[in-house]
Amino acid sequence: MAMQICPDCHGPISSSAPSCPTCGWKRIRINPGHGYGTAAILLALFAPFGGILGIIFGAVSISKSKNAGMRTAGSATAAIIVGIVTTLVWTLIMSM
Ligand SMILES: [Zn+2]
Repeated sequence: MAMQICPDCHGPISSSAPSCPTCGWKRIRINPGHGYGTAAILLALFAPFGGILGIIFGAVSISKSKNAGMRTAGSATAAIIVGIVTTLVWTLIMSM
């Protein structure tokens, strides 16, 4: 059984424990052994949709905000940036 360091109080946590016995910090990852792979799979599954949807929604929001007076241009630009970054991350994962 591997021991890990609590990110909150830096005390030891069993890798099988769902939370820190010292401070009660709750583990977000489902399973430390599968955490990285699960995260990569989830990214690979959802990033294409999330990234492309982010770009599409952002572009639609910008075209609408141009008509409506640039009210949502900031969040629309953020959505496009997040979409591009997510798509890039997905492309990197798929090329490894
Ligand atoms: Zn702790």
